[in-house]
Amino acid sequence: MSSMIDPFGRRISYLRVSVTDRCDLRCVYCMAEDMTFLPKREVLTLEELDRLCGAFIGHGVEKIRLTGGEPLVRKNVISLFRSLGGRLGGGGLKELTVTTNGTQLAHMAEDLYGAGVRRINVSLDTLDPAAFKAATRWGEIEKVLDGIFAAKAAGLAVKINAVALKGVNEGEYDRMLAWCGEHGFDLCLIETMPMGDITGDRTDQYLPLSLVRSRLREHWTLEDTDYRTGGPARYYTVKETGRRLGFITPMTHNFCESCNRVRLTCTGTLYMCLGQDDAADFRPLLRDPSVDDAALRAAIEAAIARKPKGHDFIIDRRHNRPSVGRHMSVTGG
Ligand code: SAM
Repeated sequence: MSSMIDPFGRRISYLRVSVTDRCDLRCVYCMAEDMTFLPKREVLTLEELDRLCGAFIGHGVEKIRLTGGEPLVRKNVISLFRSLGGRLGGGGLKELTVTTNGTQLAHMAEDLYGAGVRRINVSLDTLDPAAFKAATRWGEIEKVLDGIFAAKAAGLAVKINAVALKGVNEGEYDRMLAWCGEHGFDLCLIETMPMGDITGDRTDQYLPLSLVRSRLREHWTLEDTDYRTGGPARYYTVKETGRRLGFITPMTHNFCESCNRVRLTCTGTLYMCLGQDDAADFRPLLRDPSVDDAALRAAIEAAIARKPKGHDFIIDRRHNRPSVGRHMSVTGG
């Protein structure tokens, strides 16, 4: 197993894979209501995704997260989980995980555990049914809560991810932190990022987490930890619950120095940075019978050699357009 070091000395060990651009929800900060989704032929088959992931694992990727769109709405996606799960341990992979909106977990949680998944992230911005419906445009919170508890019952560790949205869930973080503590979940709060056209004004949604953190400190003891994932989250231990609380602050904190990840879209495009447009297209290689695994691996190396140092997202009144044109559902966040 070789390892990949980028031009800035960072070891790339984490691959995030968006397995579909489709989703059964339409979160207001993520998608427009009338999204046009990709034609099927443009989307990699599960076998193509598996082969490409295998090449990355051969190159030192130790952690794979499947995301989307909503990864669990892709037909037969469990076969991809099972195949990748077969590479855990001696196969070079150390962790297989998923980011989901939770709507399919009630019937899929046990299969995910069986495939080797042990931890999942579930996106849930609010515990209030009406606010949930408003934020997701048509979601039913009961389905998600049933899914979360099915995941817990199946033995999966759950982290709840909530995007901090001014006027939507602003008053709820105390309650969410208490709820997560009660049920044994970690919580991660995320600042909105200016990605993709969403019909609406992002400056109205943006809530700086520095403010949220100081408000939470009025009721909770947040203890510093050195827990790191190589990603943008800064974690604390909540003394009262013993659970972790993370803050993902792409807008107020630069997290690029320790970046260990790259992102693959469902069409086979590899983005070396969430906040930049440069990308490498693997689909033509996967569909060319003359391209063998060695050539695929050489293409991966060439892409990693182009990983940029970092990004600059901006949201302000003068730049009220996305910093990055693609939606989060393309790269899965
Ligand atoms: N459907 C899955 C889910 O809901 O977790 C996976 C894909 S979703 C794009 C991944 C995460 O990105 C979710 O937690 C979502 O809230 C977050 N997200 C989407 N658009 C965002 C934006 N513009 N800024 C910050 N987070 C965003």
